[in-house]
Amino acid sequence: MKTEYIVLKETILNNNCPECYATESLLLSFKQEKVFSRLVIKTKKTIVEQMDCKQCETTIFPGRWTDDIERVYEYHKKTLQPKPSSTRFTNTTYLLLLLFFLLCLSLSIYLYRSDFL
Ligand SMILES: [Zn+2]
Repeated sequence: MKTEYIVLKETILNNNCPECYATESLLLSFKQEKVFSRLVIKTKKTIVEQMDCKQCETTIFPGRWTDDIERVYEYHKKTLQPKPSSTRFTNTTYLLLLLFFLLCLSLSIYLYRSDFL
């Protein structure tokens, strides 16, 4: 299984970093999880949010957010357009289904013929 993230939004905030007080260094990102397995590709509903400071390279957890950061975060969150959650079969699945179908077909032909021999 492999997990990838669809970046829904990545934005630099004007707010000061609560750790190092740098301006325009906070990167807020919203990502959606997409899981690849051999048989299916799944887009999950879950949205992963993260805020990092580019200046001090710290991940800023919600506990450290100021009211201003909170407000900006809420604003960006409202503008998100997440992908609908979905499950899709991979080509491998279709190939397996096709092989299975062909197997059934040849088996039934074989049985049908042997009845009359
Ligand atoms: Zn910082």
